[in-house]
Amino acid sequence: MVISQESEIIESVLALGNHIGNTPLYELQHVSPKKSVRILAKLEWMQFGGSVKARPAYNIIKQAILNGDLGHGKILLDASSGNTAIAYATIGARLGIPVTICLPENASWERKMLLKGLGVTIVYTSKFGSTDEAQEKALELYQNEPDKYFLADQYGNENNWKAHYETTSEEILAKVSGEITHFVTGLGTTGSFTGISKRLKEVNSDITTIALQPDGALHGLEGWKDMETAKVPGIYDPSLADRFMNVDTFDAYETLKLAAKKEGLMISPSAAANLKGSLQLADELDEGVIVTLFPDNAEKYSEVIKSLF
Ligand code: PMP
Repeated sequence: MVISQESEIIESVLALGNHIGNTPLYELQHVSPKKSVRILAKLEWMQFGGSVKARPAYNIIKQAILNGDLGHGKILLDASSGNTAIAYATIGARLGIPVTICLPENASWERKMLLKGLGVTIVYTSKFGSTDEAQEKALELYQNEPDKYFLADQYGNENNWKAHYETTSEEILAKVSGEITHFVTGLGTTGSFTGISKRLKEVNSDITTIALQPDGALHGLEGWKDMETAKVPGIYDPSLADRFMNVDTFDAYETLKLAAKKEGLMISPSAAANLKGSLQLADELDEGVIVTLFPDNAEKYSEVIKSLF
C-alpha cells in the first residue's frame, strides 16, 4: 500500500514535467532602437501556474519527492512574494501535497485569492519586512515542527537555479545558440539569472551576462518584492554577472505601456524592467542578440495596470 502510493506520486510528478517550460522565445519587432540589435524574450507566463516559477517549484518538488522528503502527508513550507507560492500551489494541488506559505501582507489581492482558491494555508507577515521576514517566519515554523514540514527554501535550494540551468537555458540555446551575445534579467531569488548565465557561459564564455537591479524608488511595488530582498540569497553566485545595470521604476512603467501598444504584450512590471534593461543595453551596442525573460504577464497586477491606462 505504502509502496504503491509512493510510486503513484513519483509517476504523477514525472508526468507533470511534460507540462513545465517549453515557453516561446519571442522576438520583439518594434521596440529595439536599431535593426542591428535583436531583442528576444522568453514568455514565461505561458506555462503551468502562469509564471517563470513553475520551473524551480517543479524541480524543488520533484527532487523532494524522489528523495522521500515530500509525500506521506508532509506539508511543503516556504516564503514567497507570490509567484513561487502560486507555482507550489498549482503543482501541490495536482499531486495532493499540502502547501503552507509565509506571505508579506501587502501581496496583491489577486495573489491572495489565487492561493486561497488553490487551497494554500497562508501565514501573513508584515508588509514592511518584505520577503526577508517571510523567510524568517518559515524557518521558525519549520524549526518548531520539523516533522510536519518540508522547508522548500527557494532562496537557498540548489534545485531552484538548476531548473533554469537544465531547462530555460537549453531552450534558449536550442533557438539562438551561436547568435546570442547578451543575457539580461533582474534578480529575485537569483535562480533564473544564476542557472541560465552559468549554462550559457559554459557553452560560450563570450556571452555577456547583465543583472538588473531596481532603483531605490521601487520599494513596496508589487511584482518587485523578490528583487529587493536585503539578504543575498544563498544560491547567488557572484562570479556570474559581468555587469549590473539599474532600471528606473518610471521608465519600467513607460516600457510596460510601450510593449502593450507596439508588441501586443501585456507584461508585468518586472518583465517591463527586463525589457527596459534590454533597451538600455541595445542603445549602447552596434549589433547583437539580447535575450531576456518575461517572468509573468500583467494579469496579477490590476492596481498597477489601472494606474497606467
Ligand atoms: N519577476 C517576478 C514577477 C518574479 O516572480 C520573480 C521571481 N520571484 C522574478 C522576477 C525574479 O526571478 P528569480 O527568483 O529567478 O531571481
